Amino acid sequence: MDQEFDIVIAGGGVAGLTAALTAARLGCRVLTLIGDILGGLLLSIDKVDGFPGFVDGVPGYDLCPMIQEQAVAAGAEFTATSLDSIEQQNGGWQISSGNEQLRARAVILATGAALKELGVPGEERLRGKGVSHCASCDAPLVRKKTVAVVGGGDSALQEALTLADFAERVVVLQRGSALTAQAVYRDRVANQPKIELRFDSIVEEILGDDKVRGVRIRDAKRNAATDLEVAALFVYVGLQPAAGYLNGHMKLDPLGRIPVDAQMRTELPGLFAAGIVRSGSAGRAVASAGDGAIAAVAAERYLVERI
Ligand SMILES: Cc1cc2nc3c(=O)[nH]c(=O)nc-3n(C[C@H](O)[C@H](O)[C@H](O)COP(=O)(O)OP(=O)(O)OC[C@H]3O[C@@H](n4cnc5c(N)ncnc54)[C@H](O)[C@@H]3O)c2cc1C
Repeated sequence: MDQEFDIVIAGGGVAGLTAALTAARLGCRVLTLIGDILGGLLLSIDKVDGFPGFVDGVPGYDLCPMIQEQAVAAGAEFTATSLDSIEQQNGGWQISSGNEQLRARAVILATGAALKELGVPGEERLRGKGVSHCASCDAPLVRKKTVAVVGGGDSALQEALTLADFAERVVVLQRGSALTAQAVYRDRVANQPKIELRFDSIVEEILGDDKVRGVRIRDAKRNAATDLEVAALFVYVGLQPAAGYLNGHMKLDPLGRIPVDAQMRTELPGLFAAGIVRSGSAGRAVASAGDGAIAAVAAERYLVERI
């Protein structure tokens, strides 16, 4: 493989894939490093809501391969490796990826985010043994059981609804006194009798030796702890942006995301960021796709202007 590209994109989620499609269609030689797995966060979502063109939603594990297919047809190249570090070099960028050194005239960072952990005792020990980040994957395993979901945002309620199709009872544990999810999810939850909402509930410990058997919850108002018997615990308490590879190259925002302007340009020449890894992302899949397209157009313009 020739190691020199017009644009290298880091990230195989909807932002990176859309950037690859758009840049390839603009005639750029583009390589996308997809990281661990194609699809990013959407991979584990059974029904991506609100993506234009799909009235009944679309499985994330279908959507991303479809975009990749379009990008490949437009001439984009892909590799299943990660971006480890980048350095400015001769007016372009040098990218370390595993044992390889790549060169690109512009780089688009679309490395997304990982679901945050709770950081409580039992979580590490019981991961994959009832502690899960993927309701769609594990819902069939909790048929007719009681499970808990931690969080009160869109993801938590969306995944509680998925679980309610299988489980007997879904207890949503929210540390604050209100939900932060959009009205559409709040309404759906209100109409799902299997879902019970518990506010001011802080998970202190996950109980069980070789599989989850319960969770210890502190009531923030009464400052009292109780145990709830559950067969599994699904954690949706926010996202941790994946930008560690920047390693001091630029100041991130207070949430650890990459600052950009309206064209997805970072403060460094030829370096762009798109999707939920960038500051001010709207968080939805369609917005991430839009970011990818904007970044690709801006990167192509940058390359043309430098010739
Ligand atoms: C539970 C849940 C449900 C959701 N449901 C919806 C929904 O119904 N509708 C909706 O519109 N949105 C939904 N979202 C939001 C949606 O998932 C995100 O907006 C979207 O996935 C963001 O895409 P992205 O490409 O920016 O990042 P990601 O999806 O996080 O993709 C990032 C990619 O970068 C890769 N990567 C990471 N580090 C590196 C590296 N160093 N080098 C190379 N690659 C790297 C990862 O492997 C991954 O492929 C949901 C999110 C969650 C958590």
